[in-house]
Amino acid sequence: MSVQPQPIVRFAPSPTGKMHIGSARTALFNWLYAKHTGGKFLLRIEDTDAERSTPENTAYIFEAMAWLGLSADAEPILQTSRLAAHVEAAKMLVEKGAAFVDAEGVTRFKVPEGSTHWTDLVQGDITIDNKQIEPFALLRSNGTPTYHLGVVCDDIFQQVTHVIRGDDHINNTPKQILLYQALGATVPHFGHLPLILNESGEKLSKRHGAASVQDLRNAGYLPSALFNMLLRLGWGHGDQELFTKEEAIKLFDITAVSKGAARFDTAKLNWLNAQYLKSEPFSTVLPHLLPFVPDMQQTHPSDIKKLETMWEDLTARAQTLPEVATAANYLLTDPTDSYTEEHTKILLEGHHALHDIYDALCCVTEWTPEILHAVIAKLVENAGGSFKAVGRPLRVAVTASLGGPDMAKIMAALGQNETLRRIKVSLHHVHANGGAH
Ligand code: GLU
Repeated sequence: MSVQPQPIVRFAPSPTGKMHIGSARTALFNWLYAKHTGGKFLLRIEDTDAERSTPENTAYIFEAMAWLGLSADAEPILQTSRLAAHVEAAKMLVEKGAAFVDAEGVTRFKVPEGSTHWTDLVQGDITIDNKQIEPFALLRSNGTPTYHLGVVCDDIFQQVTHVIRGDDHINNTPKQILLYQALGATVPHFGHLPLILNESGEKLSKRHGAASVQDLRNAGYLPSALFNMLLRLGWGHGDQELFTKEEAIKLFDITAVSKGAARFDTAKLNWLNAQYLKSEPFSTVLPHLLPFVPDMQQTHPSDIKKLETMWEDLTARAQTLPEVATAANYLLTDPTDSYTEEHTKILLEGHHALHDIYDALCCVTEWTPEILHAVIAKLVENAGGSFKAVGRPLRVAVTASLGGPDMAKIMAALGQNETLRRIKVSLHHVHANGGAH
């Protein structure tokens, strides 16, 4: 009876820029695999391309993983710290006769005869005739290690048991299996995740809109929604659409990942985001919303309270955070600065009603939605039963808009002083525009 080692998976991105959706999905599936099996999730930054591996590009990886809540179970390692070990391994292979130094001083792998087979966790059984594999390079003529050598040495070093990565790496796998064997190491399991296409069936890329975690964050999606979206790119559980993190961990099964390409669907992401905007606690969403609020540095605790009071209404129809921020405009910015011509006309027509409204609201001693409802009802009654005669100028005066949530609720959220101030300013506006006193 053999004891199965604790699974160890890794995410091994090369810093190239903002984190691509495909990389994020690879990170997520590795993380889920580790959590599901009680294994370890490691991170290795493959930073050997000096030009692209800038501190900024490396920071994008950490930033996106932290934002998605995918933390590694050990300190990340940098591939550049392991170059000497790679060179050492190549020398050892040359000494063993498993590699050779050819004409231009390049060290190449001597591909043995026969065939290479593995059972891919996603793609199933794959067998490659070794005749199809060229004597691939291990060290370049300048002595630097190649990707194949580095990735295998480091996966051995980190004791990786399962290599889960994008299927653009599938052609690399037979070469890497041969390297493991030549180095006398246990060959890990491999699983290759399907390609991600955009809505028009093309490979997801920057040229066709948002393709990175950072792009989507800046477009106003929540990490929980993107987490759920990434989870569904190639994996599913019946027709379930919404998964908590705990459910995803419990249900995730690498062998259930589809072989066929996955499709990134913006409409689906919008739908997911709308669900999470409504279902997540206000305090969870707030830090993600603030960057979309104009002058957020000046956001006062009283503004936060207003947002919280109106939260259900603000998120009722919104799909993205900028939409929530726009819906919250009347709470956080002064609408009396932005009365339009149409608003001015309504205020002029309703200025008598506005005077009565102002006087009635001044007298309110208990500023609650219930009391304010009753005050409005009384004013409507006095206006001969016309709700419009009261409600319209009131809404325009206080919010500079023609529609929106219940006015009593809005006024309760704004508070008495601010509500009265706005109505007063609207009356000044009426006078300045030729309205009677
Ligand atoms: N560094 C490689 C990449 O970013 C991944 C290597 C691997 O997963 O084996 O594509």
